[in-house]
Amino acid sequence: MEIRNVAIIAHVDHGKTTLVDQLLKQSKTLEAHEEIAERAMDSNDLERERGITILAKTTAIHYKDYKINILDTPGHADFGGEVERIMHMVDGCVLLVDAYEGTMPQTRFVLKKALEAHVKPIVVINKVDRPVTRIDEVMDEVLELFMELGADDDQLDFPTCYVSALNGTSSLDPDPATQEATMDNLFEMIVNEIPAPIVDLEDGLQLQPALLDYNDYVGRIGIGRIQRGTIHLNDNVVCCRADGTTTPFRVQKLYTFLGLHRIEVDEVDAGDICAFAGLADIGVGETVCDPQHIDPLPLLHVDEPTIQMVF
Ligand code: GDP
Repeated sequence: MEIRNVAIIAHVDHGKTTLVDQLLKQSKTLEAHEEIAERAMDSNDLERERGITILAKTTAIHYKDYKINILDTPGHADFGGEVERIMHMVDGCVLLVDAYEGTMPQTRFVLKKALEAHVKPIVVINKVDRPVTRIDEVMDEVLELFMELGADDDQLDFPTCYVSALNGTSSLDPDPATQEATMDNLFEMIVNEIPAPIVDLEDGLQLQPALLDYNDYVGRIGIGRIQRGTIHLNDNVVCCRADGTTTPFRVQKLYTFLGLHRIEVDEVDAGDICAFAGLADIGVGETVCDPQHIDPLPLLHVDEPTIQMVF
């Protein structure tokens, strides 16, 4: 299955939650996920419940032969460091803008981070079903914002999709009368316009946790994109620490994402996003490597507390 990694960025209330729910609904992901949830119930209800709560910020959606990992991005400036780190895990972003409200302060803030990280932007104008919209003016505002933020020519050449996340409709044309009764225009734009991750399976594991989570059962959990190689459950790996030392550990838990849930897996390849446990004090921006091939990535910038306790 091919992977696409995308961040979804927007001002609050412009429809991120509604859009992701709609994409989940229209894809086959929910059916697949329901089967898996039933199986997971047998093992540990509580852990599953908590897993959902903790890791709900990453959603994985299956569309045709693709798995699209969607990372929800906080819009607030207090989470600037987190937004930057999320941009390290993705190759593109969906900038969601309300068809009436247009660009807002948080739109500017998150778009600036995305442009700085040089991820491929897709613009999605949402709520085109509203009785009053300003679609042409909003498009002008978006273009102006890209220019103000110093977008390069490639970034300025962004594709645009017009949707009603609420109704599950989409079009490539701004005229609301052209809306089609599926989100396929957006799905196709994501898989065709957002670059595939580079998949290097040959050169030894490199995995840099960009987010941390915690649960009572497994302790600290790192979430990151595998830059290189493959990680397996029970692998003996080393963590290259911020201070230049290395700490060996065993991969005790390994997850990928499916729908709104995480699922336990035995291995994950380069290009995909995984969650893992096994090192109690792992830090954001450190690199997990193969012991035979210790090759840390540059440290990620951290400027705020990095553990979110979601209980
Ligand atoms: P978020 O804060 O970005 O996650 O926004 P939500 O998804 O919670 O949506 C905020 C509000 O906008 C909710 O009341 C939604 O029902 C509404 N909304 C979202 N998408 C649409 C849409 O396509 N059309 C209309 N009319 N309302 C929408």
